[in-house]
This record gives sequence, structure tokens and C-alpha cells, in this order.
Amino acid sequence: MSFILNGRGMATQVSDTPVNTFLHLFRRYLRDQGLPVTQQRDAVAEVVFSSTENQSVEDLERKLRERGEKIGKATVYRTLEMLVKSGLVAEHDFGEGFKRYEHLFGQPPVREHLVCTECGKVTAIHSTALIRLHQEEAARHGFLPARYRLAIYGLCQECQEQGRSLRWEGLTCPIEMLD
Ligand SMILES: [Zn+2]
Repeated sequence: MSFILNGRGMATQVSDTPVNTFLHLFRRYLRDQGLPVTQQRDAVAEVVFSSTENQSVEDLERKLRERGEKIGKATVYRTLEMLVKSGLVAEHDFGEGFKRYEHLFGQPPVREHLVCTECGKVTAIHSTALIRLHQEEAARHGFLPARYRLAIYGLCQECQEQGRSLRWEGLTCPIEMLD
């Protein structure tokens, strides 16, 4: 059990959760790179590590504000760049015009998402049937898979209920988004 100072200068109790393990790894990465470990970088990293969602910069900024942190956009972007370089966080582009960030720890190298083309909601799906299928397909071709991504584009339930309809123009072919 230890204490950290939040943006209001108040001590917050922290336990040894996975978030702290990731924070520890990120601080070690910064030190290895000769970069200073700052309270602001810690705060951004903590918000990214605290959620298994694919978060946009807007989501992160909102959560930081809620925690009483005053961190400029440039610092948020710069920290995200460091997190991605450290290998602890993945940057995704779902063709929404902005990037989303997802921490990679404790997650299998499988990414399956439903992407709503109207409201931009991204939902992670986990299907053992799909995992088995991609493993079988790779094996059939004598291919050794490292990671796998699938995005299904369409309308989420809420958007359908609001009477929105699918627009086909401007849809990006998922295969073009594989990096
Ligand atoms: Zn939607």
C-alpha cells in the first residue's frame, strides 16, 4: 500500500493493483530512455491503464479533468506516444478520424471489434469460435500467427433504435486498416 499525490495535491491511497504494475513498467521505460518521470505522465498512464476500453484522447481528457488534473493536450499526446513506444499501449485507427488507445497487458493478442459508423462506439467482442477459426486457417497455410484483428462495421443497437440507417459511402475496407 502506498500513497500518490493527485492533481489537487491530496494524497490518494493506492494498492498493488495491475494498474500499479503497469505504471511501474512505464516508469522504468521512461528512466531507461532517460526521460523524466513526472506526475502528469503518471496520471495519463494511469487513466489509460485503468480501463480495458479503446479510449480516445477526448475520453482520456475527460477522465483527467474528473480527477482534478490540469494537463495540456500536448502533454497527453506526448505521453500517449511514449506509452505506444513502450509497447504497453496499442494505438488503433477505426477510421473515425481520431485514434483510440488500449493497454495491452493481460490481454490475448486477439482484437475483435464492432465499430458503429454512426456514433463511433467501439465494442470489443471475444469469440472462442473465431479464435479457433483463425488458428485453424493459419495452420492450414502453415502460417505462424502473431496477432489478429477483426473489425465489423455497422450500426450499434442504440443507433438502430434511434432510426438511423447505414450509409455505405466512406466505409473503409477493414483489410486496408491492418497495419
Ligand atoms: Zn451507434
